[in-house]
Amino acid sequence: MENGKLKLAIQKKGRLSEKSLQLLRNCGLEFENYSERLFLPVRNFNLDLLFLRDDDIPEYVQDGVADLGIVGENVLLEKNAEVEIVKKLGFGRCQLMIGIPEASTLNSANDLNGKKIATSHPRILENYLHKNKISAKIIDISGSVEIAPSLGIADCICDIVSTGNTLRFNKLKKSFTVFQSESVLIGNKDLLSDHVKEQLLKKLLLRMDSVLAARNSKYLMMNVSKDSLENIKNIIPSLKSPTILPLADPEMLALHAVIPTEKFWEIIDELKHEGASGILLLPIENLVP
Ligand code: ATP
Ligand code: MG
Repeated sequence: MENGKLKLAIQKKGRLSEKSLQLLRNCGLEFENYSERLFLPVRNFNLDLLFLRDDDIPEYVQDGVADLGIVGENVLLEKNAEVEIVKKLGFGRCQLMIGIPEASTLNSANDLNGKKIATSHPRILENYLHKNKISAKIIDISGSVEIAPSLGIADCICDIVSTGNTLRFNKLKKSFTVFQSESVLIGNKDLLSDHVKEQLLKKLLLRMDSVLAARNSKYLMMNVSKDSLENIKNIIPSLKSPTILPLADPEMLALHAVIPTEKFWEIIDELKHEGASGILLLPIENLVP
């Protein structure tokens, strides 16, 4: 590793690894396929990738071993490292939930008073209990939290839940959410005082922004009659004013617009109703505002 290069730590093997690598590739960074190495240089950008366990990433970024890292907010808060959150990345979304035995009920968070709660996220849970003025005993375990109630060491658990299958398998059920997490890009606090690294980060962030913006947008194309143009413009939830192009038929126009992906199925009937034809929806790779 050299000076004047950014060092970005990502999870070596786990739920965030593939998405982190994909994001970097979509930013145009070229590097070898993942190997068992601790670090990989990026061929076309002054950046080295460091592959670490996610638990270690906040501290390595805090201490400047890495300048940047990609990690779940849950891990970041749990490790309580002094780093900056540079950007939320929108993947690795998950919820830290209270899970209770199938036969029991929990009507409100207050019912946790006096309970023993097993978790591998003691700091986040403690904050939650404190904020809600609940007094409960936190049993700190590092893994397989969901077996704690059946072992009799806790009344309920606080753990990351997605489908709830693991809970069901252990005769537990979802109760309520304590914390919502997604992956974040974190940075060392002194990073911006290094001019070269600051410039590299700016360049990288421009690319990330364009990838993240493109992910939720699509390019919509259609043919419309001149008469229906105004109505159709009103239907389209375009990010900017749409592009209108002439067609060989003087009564017809082509209309192109960038729209939020989730709006497409909401507006399709109205577009058809206004006589739009040849409707195409295309993916966007990058979107530079
Ligand atoms: P490591 O070996 O790097 O310590 P890990 O086993 O601690 O890995 P993973 O299970 O790979 O971690 O999860 C990494 C992160 O992915 C979690 O901290 C969380 O932010 C996020 N995540 C997203 N969905 C889920 C899920 N369904 N279960 C667990 N974590 C999830
Ligand atoms: Mg971990």
